[in-house]
Amino acid sequence: MRRKLAAGNWKMNGLRTDLAELEALAATFAAPKVDILLCPPATLLAPAAACSGPIAIGAQDCHAQDSGAHTGDVSAPMIKDAGANAVILGHSERRTDHGESSDAVRAKAVAAQAAGLTTVICLGESFKQREAANTLDIIGGQLSTSVPDGSTGENLVIAYEPIWAIGTGLVPNLDQIGEVHDFIRTRIERRFGAGVGRSVRLLYGGSVKPDNAADIFGVSNVDGALVGGASLKCADFSQIINALE
Ligand code: 13P
Repeated sequence: MRRKLAAGNWKMNGLRTDLAELEALAATFAAPKVDILLCPPATLLAPAAACSGPIAIGAQDCHAQDSGAHTGDVSAPMIKDAGANAVILGHSERRTDHGESSDAVRAKAVAAQAAGLTTVICLGESFKQREAANTLDIIGGQLSTSVPDGSTGENLVIAYEPIWAIGTGLVPNLDQIGEVHDFIRTRIERRFGAGVGRSVRLLYGGSVKPDNAADIFGVSNVDGALVGGASLKCADFSQIINALE
């Protein structure tokens, strides 16, 4: 019932020449059996959207306001105007580098959903929080505050990304991933009702690679992945997408 989703986050990587990787991906998955989303840096949104074929394009952040005196920021309507239809919000790198609170993430998500973008809202605990057995408390708090009331199965995707697993090669064990995903599903069902709760896609993110993707995709309530480093090259990302199909 939920269509699987393979999402790539290029972070602050990618020049125009790297669009060749996206073009190769679009050629490889001309008729994909799963949804594919690629999120390049803002400078590449428009050219990526022009060459992405069946692959959806998303941004990595947006401002909470539609326009105004906010030097250096990009608004949700601008992202839509560039040809993208999704945005990653609340990534731990933004929460850390830019001090984004869950309240700020929710304000951005409201603007993004109003502009017609699908919001990929990221949640994740630090290693210290996991060691202190606080993971579900942290995830529950981030979830309830970051996700806006107007969310639906179409405009909301949740990505569970343990901070300590991002770019480290460390991955929680499959039971740990399942525990958090089941918890998120239950919380969303409780808040939004069974219909929306069952239709929101839940992605795992953090050191997903071609050699561990199939195992992770076998975990209950894992509907796909948000992939960082391994989404930069068509060869790697293709293998992950194949594991999901
Ligand atoms: P890596 O796949 O490089 O660990 O990054 C995960 C991530 O942060 C995706 O948003």
